[in-house]
Amino acid sequence: MINYHPDQHLLSLHAKGELPLSMSIAISAHAELCHHCQQQLDQMTIALSEQEFEQQQTVAKQPDDADLSALLSQFMSSTLDNLDIESIQQPQDADNTVTIQGQQYALPRVFRKQINASWQGIGKVSRLRLDTGEPQARASLLHIAANGEIPEHTHKGAELTLLLAGEFSDCYNTYKPGDFMLLDQAHQHSPKTTEGCLCYTIVDAPLYFTKGFSKLLNPIGDLLY
Ligand SMILES: [Zn+2]
Repeated sequence: MINYHPDQHLLSLHAKGELPLSMSIAISAHAELCHHCQQQLDQMTIALSEQEFEQQQTVAKQPDDADLSALLSQFMSSTLDNLDIESIQQPQDADNTVTIQGQQYALPRVFRKQINASWQGIGKVSRLRLDTGEPQARASLLHIAANGEIPEHTHKGAELTLLLAGEFSDCYNTYKPGDFMLLDQAHQHSPKTTEGCLCYTIVDAPLYFTKGFSKLLNPIGDLLY
């Protein structure tokens, strides 16, 4: 059962196509795991396209019947074309898995075109950076092997974590696949996992370790940022 969801504002920005790629990936991946948010997105998309359609109708002069049927058939054929392209671009056996530390994970479809880097790791923590073309935000897949943890830290900007597989817990809660957590700089936490986990994360400023041995942990800080 998913307990943490993106809020209405984020969902509506996503439906309007106004989010940066890194955050858009997070919302799409969450919606693949969360029927409830997928339904809300579908409703928002329908409402937006109806709005758009009404606006266009009031601006454009009313087409006569012949124009309208031409328009409709044009629309139908372009819709069908799009469907064809979509099905060609999504072969059923598309490689949509990652293997890290001997574990194989199936990823949400949205990651299919994003995975072209390799894993880097220190100890039980491994990271695969995604190139979203954003100068500030850093989007990654983060894997923590069984019984691993991330030292207690805080961050300058916001940190998004979407749990894709496995479980982890921190001082606030225990999280399940699909949980979507947006933490700001007021939060301080040290996630731990017993069975191991795979997350999608976005960090927009370096992490600051709050316990004394930050010098020792700097390489992990670099890895996570
Ligand atoms: Zn949701």
